[in-house]
Amino acid sequence: MRRRQTVAVIGAGFSGVLTALRLLDAPDGPCVRLVERRARFGQGAAYSTTSPQHLLNVRAANMSALPEQPLHFLDWLERNGVTSEGRTFVTRACYGDYLQSMLRAAAETARAAGRLMLEADGVTALHRRGERWRVELAMGRGFEADAVVLALGNLPPHPPATLDPDAAHSPAYAAEPWTLDPEQAPENGQVVLLGTGLTMVDVALSLSQARPDLQMLALSRRGLLPRRHLGSGPAPEPMDKLDGSVTQALCQLRAAAGAADDWRAVVDGVRPHVQAIWRDWPQAERRRFLRHARPWWDIHRHRLAPPVAERIDHLTASGALRTAAGRIARITPADGGLEIHWNARGETEPRRTRAALVINCTGPGGDLGGSGEPLVADLVRQGLIRADACRLGVDVDSDSRLVGDGGACDHPTLFAVGPITRGAFWEVTAVPDIRVQAAECARSVIGALDALQLSPAAS
Ligand SMILES: Cc1cc2nc3c(=O)[nH]c(=O)nc-3n(C[C@H](O)[C@H](O)[C@H](O)COP(=O)(O)OP(=O)(O)OC[C@H]3O[C@@H](n4cnc5c(N)ncnc54)[C@H](O)[C@@H]3O)c2cc1C
Repeated sequence: MRRRQTVAVIGAGFSGVLTALRLLDAPDGPCVRLVERRARFGQGAAYSTTSPQHLLNVRAANMSALPEQPLHFLDWLERNGVTSEGRTFVTRACYGDYLQSMLRAAAETARAAGRLMLEADGVTALHRRGERWRVELAMGRGFEADAVVLALGNLPPHPPATLDPDAAHSPAYAAEPWTLDPEQAPENGQVVLLGTGLTMVDVALSLSQARPDLQMLALSRRGLLPRRHLGSGPAPEPMDKLDGSVTQALCQLRAAAGAADDWRAVVDGVRPHVQAIWRDWPQAERRRFLRHARPWWDIHRHRLAPPVAERIDHLTASGALRTAAGRIARITPADGGLEIHWNARGETEPRRTRAALVINCTGPGGDLGGSGEPLVADLVRQGLIRADACRLGVDVDSDSRLVGDGGACDHPTLFAVGPITRGAFWEVTAVPDIRVQAAECARSVIGALDALQLSPAAS
């Protein structure tokens, strides 16, 4: 009898859970060992928040984890007594509960019986053992797997180049917004938030709730805030794929937005084509997009739920939150806090702003070398992964197979899913795209396992 093969899925946020569920869907498919270092499986960075102010930024109607069952999440909400209709934005905590319930339900099916193992630990290294992988765990144990899927989520934000080394080690600097406990923030004084995007919005909401007397200044190069969803948004405008350079694509987008009743319908209409547009662009064009157009694209594409936008309006109107456009020259230690030396946009006179706390809210980074993640550092050291050409994460092929430092997929049983693969797909940071990638990746994994069974080494 054939040995049942094992797939290690590392990370149990949305990407890892969905890949695991798809692998379990396959009759006679492999065993899945899902490894997660957080206390709870199925939450990841996005859905582990317990704050009622942290809402999904995608309508409930578009958050089904299963694209072939578009009502799956709405039905779950109804069954669980959450008042909702398709256009509402429910809490992110609620979405974490949904994912956990899917994991529980899958484990109880006859098909998956005995095939799902949850490992509450961190993976620190992978080693090749013949045709298999040895997965090393932080607690000192390990296990062998036939294939491995990295579902590690976003890499931590890049530290600002303007941060003095002493400031970087100061307790007044928070490098990781997601691990910050707002209750540890100063009672009053000023907090400077580096960045004005969705991460900043999240942090501002949490801080204002825990510390109502804090003054917050959010700084970014352009000072652009994410736009908002409409309460009842327009249906996406069916769009053709945009062709040509970044400039030509943006011109087509602007023209379509000008002719539409609402620009949101155009942005949502082009979204199904974004991966293909990105794929068609040569590297130089992708870099041009990242340099010049990304901030504009991000604020229109990743929008705020209306109640969140109202809360931000309120904080702004009350003076608790100010946003500014400017260029930071240096961040230095000063009197137990930090001092930001910066130039506001359009001003020549430099400014100095004191902060009791500076929080890096610049969003996900892409620096594999500097990520501080032992597993990532180990894989880089072994040449099993490399950065993609735009340095947004790891390099993968169109089947989500990892590309090694020699530029080839040397190991057909090593995969990655989720936002860490943005370099290859760009639009793979939110549920509507990751759910598709996870299903496709699971199919590729099963294909690779089948090929392994047939290889001479297996017989
Ligand atoms: C704050 C926030 C809000 C968001 N809101 C939305 C939204 O409303 N709608 C939407 O569609 N998308 C949203 N997103 C996008 C989000 O990226 C995706 O929806 C999705 O959650 C990404 O899941 P992931 O599993 O790839 O990453 P993560 O959720 O980050 O999960 C990765 C998991 O891997 C674990 N891990 C990492 N390394 C190891 C290791 N070495 N060993 C073991 N475990 C490891 C981590 O602990 C983590 O739990 C949001 C993202 C963030 C950050």
